[in-house]
Amino acid sequence: MGHDCIFCKIIKNEIPSERVYEDDFCICIRDLHPQAKVHLLVIPKVHVASLEEAFPAAGVGQEELLGKLMKAVTAIARKQALLPGGFRTVINTNHEGGQSVFHLHLHVLGGETLRGRFA
Ligand code: AMP
Repeated sequence: MGHDCIFCKIIKNEIPSERVYEDDFCICIRDLHPQAKVHLLVIPKVHVASLEEAFPAAGVGQEELLGKLMKAVTAIARKQALLPGGFRTVINTNHEGGQSVFHLHLHVLGGETLRGRFA
């Protein structure tokens, strides 16, 4: 658990959020600054800083964590009526990738036809 991690604080309800889903493994909240009609963040409860940290160059990777996250994203998208229309998932990694909160999370964008393929 990162003591100064804003997402850890959201998970512990120390900072308010609009939670749309929760299970033993992850939460899903609405992004504070939505970049699409629907902009959700799927956040694992365990503190892993980034995709880089999830898959270190040497040692054990977190394949199970990422698999569970992708499963949760798809289930949440269904519940939020983003399927069958479609949605976009984004994982920003480190500074040049645009990551600003260093607790692994997946952006889920949708609720409209998204312009541009990658931004
Ligand atoms: P990233 O830049 O990929 O690390 O994404 C972090 C996201 O967290 C941004 O889209 C922010 O708008 C969002 N964010 C930051 N603080 C909060 C918060 N307190 N509640 C909801 N979303 C937040």
